[in-house]
Amino acid sequence: MSARILDGEAFASQIHQQTSQRVETLCKQGITPGLVFIRVGEDPASRAYVSRKEKRAGEVGISSRTLVLPENTSLDSLLREIDALNADPKVHGILIQSPLPKGLSNDIVYAHVSPAKDVDGFHPLNFGKLLLGDPSGFLPCTPAGILEILRLGKIPTAGKHAVVVGRGQIVGRPLAVLLARKLPGPDCTVTLAHSSTHNLPSITRQADLLIGALGQPHFLKAEHVRPGATVIDVGVNRISDTSNSRGYRLVGDVDFEAVRSVAGAITPNPGGVGPMTIALLLSNTLRAAESTVS
Ligand code: NAP
Repeated sequence: MSARILDGEAFASQIHQQTSQRVETLCKQGITPGLVFIRVGEDPASRAYVSRKEKRAGEVGISSRTLVLPENTSLDSLLREIDALNADPKVHGILIQSPLPKGLSNDIVYAHVSPAKDVDGFHPLNFGKLLLGDPSGFLPCTPAGILEILRLGKIPTAGKHAVVVGRGQIVGRPLAVLLARKLPGPDCTVTLAHSSTHNLPSITRQADLLIGALGQPHFLKAEHVRPGATVIDVGVNRISDTSNSRGYRLVGDVDFEAVRSVAGAITPNPGGVGPMTIALLLSNTLRAAESTVS
């Protein structure tokens, strides 16, 4: 038996199509959604991520640009740039590309973005709304993208046991809260595992839905998976690969080849969670722009 593939590229195109139609309607009312990426430094992976997001934004009709700041940018000058974007009515969404250089506190920088333009969903106010179940906030794009994979992939979730491996701030922790939301939310029973969890395989093998969000290459193997379970691979890990001109390749947290013969459904990586993260970023930007229409 081989698992059903949950094709993130195909699901993302469905979302892009809906976004693009709503962008067109908004443009007819004289508002073009605007998104600004802030990239500090020249990290090659960050450059690649931002250019991929910019390309997709253009395809759905969202106007985007990247503000590139030098590696040695001070916190004060970064916050001043954010102030200017917060005040600019043509800018509806602001995304700070991580990682920020050492010395710039993620928490301070994320909290400085206007909550109304925080399309990444990292501002403490939006995080609080997520916990409260207040739908007026922006959900973080990766966890929200995973919920969309489950919905579009018609994976039953109500009453199921979801095990999230990794309690990071941008994926595991918010995802655990979202999965536990009562109907019409996913309504799962959730276990949040981490590096201090004892006997992890005995816990992950209880999962109907297993999510790898730990940032460890090919960590989750067949022995971690209950036959027939749905497996979502969030990880993006760089491993060395001399057969490649870049000298490395990106792999997930799940050993795809080993797990696909045990799981019932699985996301590929690449081509699973990554494209959905971008799709949700753009739909959040559209919502931010729509909310400015009186
Ligand atoms: P993070 O903040 O570093 O959190 C990693 C979590 O994994 C921590 O809670 C850590 O436990 C746990 N962990 C580490 N090693 C473990 C082990 N051996 N067993 C069990 N738990 C372990 O990472 P993140 O920002 O959440 O990101 C997680 C992964 O998702 C990364 O690979 C990242 O690149 C990827 N990601 C992908 C997307 C996408 O769009 N595809 C978006 C965002 C992130 P402790 O808390 O105990 O330290």
